[in-house]
Amino acid sequence: MSALVDLRSDTVTRPSAGMRKAMAAAEVGDDVFGDDPTVNRLQECAAQLFGFEASLFFPTGTQSNLAALMSHCQRGDEVLVGMEAHTYRYEAGGGAVLGSIQPQAIVNRPDGTLDLGEVEAAIKPDDPHFARTRLLALENTITGRVIPRAYFDQALALAQRRGLSTHLDGARIFNAAVKLGLPVKDLCRGFDSVSSCLSKGLGAPAGTMLLGSKDFIARAKRARKMLGGVMRQAGVLAAAGLYALEHNVERLAEDHANAERLAKGIGAPTPQSNMVFFDAAPGLVEHLAQQGVIVLPGARLRLVTHLDVDAAGIERAIAAFNSFK
Ligand SMILES: *Cc1c(COP(=O)(O)O)cnc(C)c1O
Repeated sequence: MSALVDLRSDTVTRPSAGMRKAMAAAEVGDDVFGDDPTVNRLQECAAQLFGFEASLFFPTGTQSNLAALMSHCQRGDEVLVGMEAHTYRYEAGGGAVLGSIQPQAIVNRPDGTLDLGEVEAAIKPDDPHFARTRLLALENTITGRVIPRAYFDQALALAQRRGLSTHLDGARIFNAAVKLGLPVKDLCRGFDSVSSCLSKGLGAPAGTMLLGSKDFIARAKRARKMLGGVMRQAGVLAAAGLYALEHNVERLAEDHANAERLAKGIGAPTPQSNMVFFDAAPGLVEHLAQQGVIVLPGARLRLVTHLDVDAAGIERAIAAFNSFK
């Protein structure tokens, strides 16, 4: 029996032999005391790569986004955010529950962007009736869609004009950067903060970087402590992150090519990055599982390519889809 083809998410990757070697060899220390040289190196490297003054290592993207929201907003402040955004929809309402931050959700357009007229109309006047609109939170890629830089230029100009801070959930920003052929720095320019996962397409077992100014990262450090996210000898994980940034960025193009091949093979719309969407007939998911192809069940399947699915695996997946009667 050959290996399973797991298309549930790009988070299912396991650390490669090279990554494990780097993890095993990592110099470590107590990161609560700032003593872990590998964590420090990762934070310096990420700050440079993303073009920010400082960065902070988090166990997860959910916590990094939440710490960012809490560092931008006080109790009773408001964040403008897309209805489909991870920070709004898939993080258990953490900003509201733990940060006392009111989300003002705005419907995402089919391309994943927010209508900037609607964003501006949602900004509340300075009046005791209203929450204080403080932050605009955007996402790239969003559900596999790549948002072009020109859109962010407009969104950031609006935020600046209206005195809003800006956060980018760039969990998969490297997919966007590789797809657009731009350095990640260029896609992040102008945002006050960016969160970017090492644990998705980059293939690390855990870890997310939060980027921002020195002041912002100092606030986020306090939030991270409060949220229980400071780890001790985290250099073992940071080493995986450094390895991922060094070895697994350019190869995201293979995931995009595999996603395109998969979409073509099964008659799904052409993907923009590493996610293919396919309307499933009843019984399809079970049939795929019998063929060794695992997908998350749902009426609309999200099929995600990643570094643990190679071209042969994609052909097996296509055959499994096409043998469904
Ligand atoms: C995965 C993801 C997160 C959260 O990351 P976790 O490490 O799973 O908590 C945040 N935003 C987006 C867009 C994501 O895809």
